[in-house]
Amino acid sequence: MSIKRPASVTDEFLNRLVSRVPSTSGGTWKLTEVYTGEVLVELPQSTPEDIERAFETSRKAQQEWAQWPLKKRLKVFKKFHSLVLKHNETIVDLIQVESGKARRMAFEETLDIPMVAGYYIKRAPKVLADKKHAGPVPVVSSSLETRQPKGVVGIIAPWNFPFATGISDSIPALIAGNGVVVKPDNKTALSPLYGIELMEKAGLPKGLVQVVCGEGPDVGPTLIDNANYVMFTGSTNTGRVIGERAGRNLIGCCLELGGKNPMIVLPDANLDDVVKGAIFGAFGNTGQICMHIERMYIHDSIYDTFRDRFVAAAEALKVGAAYDFEPEVGSLVSVDHKNRVASHVEDAIAKGAKVLTGGRELPEAGPAFFAPTILEGVTKDMLAGVGETFGPVVALHRFSTEDEAVALANDTDYGLNASVWGGDLDNAIRVGRRIQSGNVNINDILATAYASKGTPSGGVKQSGVGARHGDQGLLKYTDCQNVGILKKQVMGAPEGVPFEDNVKQQIIGLRVMRKLGIR
Ligand code: NAD
Repeated sequence: MSIKRPASVTDEFLNRLVSRVPSTSGGTWKLTEVYTGEVLVELPQSTPEDIERAFETSRKAQQEWAQWPLKKRLKVFKKFHSLVLKHNETIVDLIQVESGKARRMAFEETLDIPMVAGYYIKRAPKVLADKKHAGPVPVVSSSLETRQPKGVVGIIAPWNFPFATGISDSIPALIAGNGVVVKPDNKTALSPLYGIELMEKAGLPKGLVQVVCGEGPDVGPTLIDNANYVMFTGSTNTGRVIGERAGRNLIGCCLELGGKNPMIVLPDANLDDVVKGAIFGAFGNTGQICMHIERMYIHDSIYDTFRDRFVAAAEALKVGAAYDFEPEVGSLVSVDHKNRVASHVEDAIAKGAKVLTGGRELPEAGPAFFAPTILEGVTKDMLAGVGETFGPVVALHRFSTEDEAVALANDTDYGLNASVWGGDLDNAIRVGRRIQSGNVNINDILATAYASKGTPSGGVKQSGVGARHGDQGLLKYTDCQNVGILKKQVMGAPEGVPFEDNVKQQIIGLRVMRKLGIR
């Protein structure tokens, strides 16, 4: 199909970006433009030896970087923040050519970086500062909680938000004084490569951040074996493999995994807002957001009205391939992924689900397009009923009582995100808090929780271990060193005091301290 590639995406630019990837084997992977299926660039593939060397280089640079005063490190990210905004259009172009997402979503993805950088620029001095704690003996003893960088962090990123996950997760790791080795998905390596180029332009020492490329199972083991910490974003199945290996190596890891996210609409919800939200929840980023909605539970009293309005709104969506802001829904990331989404829908239909709209591929729009699809009658024996479909496919269900809605929402192995809509805010919050989910959005789908960078965001159950954002999102990239300081040696029984008397004194001392509120 004929579509004009964005002017910034020249062969020269792409070749410069991928030249950063170490590859002694000479092997390459054909990185394609999703809308056309045409090869954009031959992406070098890194061997295990290349990855080891990447870690060595990063580790060497890290030793010096960790010595930089925090203020000097943060200066790099202040500059980076403005460079990301300045070069926004080019970043959006790269995200779009490699992922096929609608330009509106590509733009939204870029916003995550200044938000994360801005938050940690302000917060890091407080979080990373030494903290003084009381010692075991008042006055003469104390303890300092100090934070040391872990070393070199391995960051494994998925294709659905390649720039946001590859770059945003690197920011706190680097601010904490670590080096970073990023492994993006082969399909979407361009925007993270450009992000690293901009970081270096902002003053990040060369070599500190490395980008290695390859298929996950080829690259993963060497990456994990050389890392001091692993930050992984991807599917639950892969997360389990990463977690097992990190566990064997006795290194920490943060696993941000999949979801099967529910939305509950209470009878007093504002239906105009709900329909708008539901459209974004089900079809935003063509349904390829880890926090998007695949299950909607609507109160009986409003179900029919909501269903009709939601179907009409889905059918009015502008779906298409264009490097402008016109389409509201873009392509899926690849033909393989489109086939996977289609197989979930076919399976649901074969087992009795009803298609209210969509349910088909859209070859007229591009090779990997699938129509926004709304299903009724989806049950747990269907692929779309239990597993993550990760496409523009959503199932509608009715409920009549709050307990029923909560039980249905919780009837899943996942626990990443939930969305609750209601006019009585306190009631909606109360319902939301009953859902077993790391994130809950009240009267919104996902952005309110995810963009609140001060609160840690992660999954529970099979949706993950650990979190990004908040103090935790920075502290996880550090080791705590506990420096105990004793001004005068007063531990143990003083000379000449029988041990029994010392025991009594210690017990009295603990009682007094408790009474005075010291311990
Ligand atoms: P994936 O698990 O297949 O791949 C993710 C990354 O891991 C890719 O870079 C891939 O190359 C790499 N990988 C694959 N096998 C590996 C291995 N054995 N060792 C090391 N690395 C390996 O996931 P995906 O299909 O690319 O991404 C979609 C999934 O990511 C969905 O499940 C989605 O919900 C999830 N996701 C979660 C979040 C979150 O924050 N919780 C955010 C975005 C995406």
